[in-house]
Amino acid sequence: MGYRIAPEVRQDMDRIATILCRLEAIYGRPVWQPRMRPIEELVHCILSQHTSDVNSFRAFEALRRAYPDWEAVLQAPEEELARVIRSGGLARQKARRIQAVLRRIRDERPDWKLEAILESLSDEEARAYLMRLPGIGPKCAAIVLCFALGRALLPVDTHVFRVSWRLGLIERRLGPDRAHDVLQDLVPRDLVYRFHVALIRHGRSLCRAQRPRCPECPLRDLCAYGRGESGTGEGARETSSDSQC
Ligand code: SF4
Repeated sequence: MGYRIAPEVRQDMDRIATILCRLEAIYGRPVWQPRMRPIEELVHCILSQHTSDVNSFRAFEALRRAYPDWEAVLQAPEEELARVIRSGGLARQKARRIQAVLRRIRDERPDWKLEAILESLSDEEARAYLMRLPGIGPKCAAIVLCFALGRALLPVDTHVFRVSWRLGLIERRLGPDRAHDVLQDLVPRDLVYRFHVALIRHGRSLCRAQRPRCPECPLRDLCAYGRGESGTGEGARETSSDSQC
């Protein structure tokens, strides 16, 4: 039996399609391809907590160079592992967390194939499974499922969160963790990866945390925050859907 989409939901979905179309016109359209295996994404995601991409990838490379396999990472003395990954910051805490997660996975799959566990589960079940691992929240779970397996789970990082609340797609007071559920319901499944990448690019380029460059932004007419920032009324026209988008 068919179902009808409520008009306000349809409006949000149209708005998201328009936002995406305009952002991809300046940043390009990304093509999904697996970046790493799920277990690698998971470990990298722990290393990325509270630090920059540069530092987390440096720590991840150091870890991969120092140990021949995941069993060796698991068996390493915690202090030694912390020394290896120190460029990622909070090294003792992250070493402990990585080993706790690896232990859980090894107990379930001695062959370390996290993908075999996840592929047998639905999106929601896979997300819940990952979030039961020590120290894994909704962002890491979505990163593993979206980046490594191409599942339609939306990671909400600091850029996605900031651009989304400035555009009025979510309320700022939700915070990034709860924003996952709201944006997940809002963004059409087939646009999830592209939406994630486009908002990150926009957050790094024009919609920066400090002094967003609103006068140059192609979304200004859709963005109350951007119109308020200018104080000139420029660009404050009615929201419209684009003929080319
Ligand atoms: S108008 Fe400004 S605040 Fe709004 S999305 Fe663009 S850069 Fe960000």
